[in-house]
Amino acid sequence: DAYLSAIDAANGALNAYVKVTHDKARAMAAASDAKLSKGEGGALEGIPLGIKDLFGTEGVHTQACSHVLDGFEPRYESTVTANLWADGAVMLGKLNMDEFAMGSSNETSYYGPVRNPWRSSREMIMTGKPVTHAGEGGFAGEGSSVRRERVLDNVDLVPGGSSGGSAAAVSAWLCAGATATDTGGSIRQPAAFTGTVGIKPTYGRCSRWGIVAFASSLDQAGPIARDVRDAAILLRSMASVDRKDTTSVDLPVPDYEAALGRSVRGMKIGIPKEYRVDGMPAEIEALWQQGIDWMRDAGAEIVDISLPHTKYAQPAYYIVAPAEASSNLARYDGVRYGLRVPGKDIAEMYEKTRAAGFGREVKRRIMIGTYVLSAGYYDAYYLKAQKVRTLIKKDFEDVFAAGVDAILTPATPSAAFGIADQDMASDPVKMYLNDIFTVTVNMAGLPGIAVPAGLDGRGLPLGLQLIGKPFEEETLFRTAHVIE
Ligand code: GLN
Repeated sequence: DAYLSAIDAANGALNAYVKVTHDKARAMAAASDAKLSKGEGGALEGIPLGIKDLFGTEGVHTQACSHVLDGFEPRYESTVTANLWADGAVMLGKLNMDEFAMGSSNETSYYGPVRNPWRSSREMIMTGKPVTHAGEGGFAGEGSSVRRERVLDNVDLVPGGSSGGSAAAVSAWLCAGATATDTGGSIRQPAAFTGTVGIKPTYGRCSRWGIVAFASSLDQAGPIARDVRDAAILLRSMASVDRKDTTSVDLPVPDYEAALGRSVRGMKIGIPKEYRVDGMPAEIEALWQQGIDWMRDAGAEIVDISLPHTKYAQPAYYIVAPAEASSNLARYDGVRYGLRVPGKDIAEMYEKTRAAGFGREVKRRIMIGTYVLSAGYYDAYYLKAQKVRTLIKKDFEDVFAAGVDAILTPATPSAAFGIADQDMASDPVKMYLNDIFTVTVNMAGLPGIAVPAGLDGRGLPLGLQLIGKPFEEETLFRTAHVIE
């Protein structure tokens, strides 16, 4: 009830939820209460979560925040959300996001932009929690009461994207944790912009079944949470092998929480020189150096490394991701799902439905994707990008083979920017550059975590990223815990 009334009070200003499932939340919470009073219950019994609108939830609004999926309520539950409910979690509602997870600011949503709860450290909506000590308030820790404070007017920063609703809701205490997805940075960049923790696990760690597909070889689900411990608890529940997703991997899911206390003494942390990009703001440099110092103080060994193909990751991503998206989005034809705009024949119906149903950014991706997959261009673009992807993956393999345990980088090239930022709006490539530090991880299928590490000159949160070996998420929780 506390969370539901916090949502009712603040969602008008934040627009983090596109659907609040009051009745379902109360029914699930009552069932949890009954279990807990008998001394039973799962690892997440009674924990209220928000769910990104990309996850199929049975009988509940699932539209990937697109007009083309108007009215769609699936008859199935995604494996990740089913895992969470099986462990006792409670669904508060569906969270806003960029349309089909395409974007870095949550501004491509059919439901309008999400506002970042942060204006500055002095003017944060809902809670004045200092970002660097998020660990005090997680649902696993002490003092986990929901704070409801005055909502400020005139809030105008983006929360990042595409999981902007998830990040904003967690940051503003409108849920205890949230599901999110990351194809090129969509968990880690919004986490960094909102002072929350977000982990993209190794490709294959979570089942993609029942999640609306964007770019199937890159998409992964993961949690956004208030602190590293909460993220560890949530990921353990979300992860599973699933015969309905043949890319999910049959490996035991470790007790990630248990990794948190372990020392990082003697671990090798790589600092990739290619991430020192031209024009990196001084405060991002300083933050990175601070992170390096923290790791060294905790007993880790810092080593300079090289990932020579880094500069090709962004351009290759914007070939691979749109190519897969153009194929995945072919199914929205007005016949099977959501919106239908009638035409004089079936071809005109398809055309009118897709013209009306998809937003500008989604259309841009479909056009790029169709182009790079077409005869004559396939070899020059798509095949080439796949080869580049292999080289990017090999860069990481070489570094890990040389003994590096994890790689430390900034999570984003800047703090949150303004809603309707003129620079970004006029040039999609500027928007795409938000992901320069995060897309490499998706291209290589590796796990990456974003953890709050400090504030910029205006008091806005900044995050650092740790990148790990395949299926070694434990290392990320352990190292991120040193930074938070
Ligand atoms: N911002 C990137 C894009 O627009 C990544 C999105 C994502 O990770 N879903 O494609």
